[in-house]
Amino acid sequence: MEKDFCQLCGKDDFEEIPVRHTFNDYNYNLIHCNNCNLITVDPMPSSETVKSFYRDEYFEKDYRCGVKSHSYYEEESAAIEKANQVLPIVKNLKPQGTLLEIGCAGGTFLDQASKKGYQTMGVEVSTSMSQKASELYGVKVRQGDFEELEFMDESFDIVCMFDVFEHLREPRKALEKIYKILKHTGIVVIDVPTTKNALAFKLSVNLLKIFKKTRRISSPPYHLYEYLPNTLQGFMSQVGFKPCEVRKYATPPWKYLNEDESKIKKLVLGTVRYLNYFLSITFKIYTDRLLVIAKKGDDQE
Ligand SMILES: [Zn+2]
Repeated sequence: MEKDFCQLCGKDDFEEIPVRHTFNDYNYNLIHCNNCNLITVDPMPSSETVKSFYRDEYFEKDYRCGVKSHSYYEEESAAIEKANQVLPIVKNLKPQGTLLEIGCAGGTFLDQASKKGYQTMGVEVSTSMSQKASELYGVKVRQGDFEELEFMDESFDIVCMFDVFEHLREPRKALEKIYKILKHTGIVVIDVPTTKNALAFKLSVNLLKIFKKTRRISSPPYHLYEYLPNTLQGFMSQVGFKPCEVRKYATPPWKYLNEDESKIKKLVLGTVRYLNYFLSITFKIYTDRLLVIAKKGDDQE
């Protein structure tokens, strides 16, 4: 184990989770902080290695991060659906203003936000996707890594990230930067998967531990951190954000892509996912998605 201190709580009490990504002959283990529950990959890949994950093939074939061969454009209707869910909440808090989306890919969300009257800008690490976003939707996109690009302080009313925050190497630094570039009354919108909170993951980890096995995944460790509701909110409150909307929600089981799985695996996983969905919508437990909208904490109007 290479990790020294937990990025969230500062302790060095980690436990290996029996799940391992193998990519380009390197092994990346998942580790869990016993103190605060933050889950991260170990070792953390370098910034250059992380950038290499997002070549054109990622957007053409691996947009579901190793779950199933899917392109960005096959996911476009989901991005529109997301915009339809999130923009009304944002509109209530911030009816107009400047909106930055970090990791805007092909620009679908930015296009929807522009249609609702926001002055939008995107950041996208992929050169071809940032070009496509500009060509297809005429949206303004800065190509590059958000963690490296420079922005004016207090220049945005809204900063959004959808399925992006878990891909960042330095979550606290990214949040500090977002805090700086937001206006005093600005808001941040972060939507992440929390699949490590779901029943299927918890059960499978326990079974792997009992049988002393490790699940090997032959794809890059796209998610450098795996968030649970408390760990994402922990980072946000440390930086000074005050939550205004927290939605723990669940992916309907029929939306999982599992065509490649065997019949028995489909049956077992399907049963667990339906049970999980029932528990999530009834008791708000084992939720596998999290949306947090938070404002800057300095309360200056
Ligand atoms: Zn910790």
